Amino acid sequence: MKKGQDINKVVRQHLQMDEFFTGGFGIKGQKTMSDQAEHKESTINSSAELEKLADEVCRCRECELGYSRTKAVPGEGNANARIMFIGEAPGADEDAQGRPFVGRAGQLLNKIITACGLKRTDVFIANILKCRPPENRDPRAEEIISCFPYLQRQIEIINPEIIVALGAPAARTLLNTNKSIGQLRGQFHEYYAGLGRAPIKVMPTYHTAYLLRNYSEENRKRVWEDMKKVLAELGLPIPEQGKK
Ligand code: URA
Repeated sequence: MKKGQDINKVVRQHLQMDEFFTGGFGIKGQKTMSDQAEHKESTINSSAELEKLADEVCRCRECELGYSRTKAVPGEGNANARIMFIGEAPGADEDAQGRPFVGRAGQLLNKIITACGLKRTDVFIANILKCRPPENRDPRAEEIISCFPYLQRQIEIINPEIIVALGAPAARTLLNTNKSIGQLRGQFHEYYAGLGRAPIKVMPTYHTAYLLRNYSEENRKRVWEDMKKVLAELGLPIPEQGKK
């Protein structure tokens, strides 16, 4: 964005463009005119807050990953999303582009989102860590501790109805547990976003990188079963082509 440009104006123009093409707001269903105005206002505010947070993330040097990264990867998507997908940490492709899930694991995530009858722009995609660990090593506890507040704030701003936790590190961090992904997946858990806020449902499922390495009929079915529960919980239709 150019210096001195009004961020709200840019976001508003973007939303107007988006609405021109989509005729409404992604997956949230029919709304009255006043609902839509209110919704648009809150989307503009949330987008602006998320953008400010993303700037902070891009300047962050709280841990050593801030010095080894190429680009930070704050996350991207719909500021008013009903579903957030949360992965582990950026890989090489994400580190190069500054965008989440753009490599092979991301292509598979795109396929899952499409199979659900959704678009990437309907959802919000982020990671537990905003910077790539060298050689894609596992995130360290101190890195998670210093980075997690960014994700907490993103969740607070977006306030999704459901979080899909991709893989054990995401599920364990959000649910503060040491259980395996096999034990956690397939059922809803709760994430507490703060005092006075309703808990957010969390559906843990296999990470798409794991799925790529273990691309069996059985594992694909399990992920689809998990996603069907998410769609049902949101009252969204379950597309035929995904039912395999
Ligand atoms: N794996 C992740 O966990 N996140 C990404 O953004 C890409 C791959």
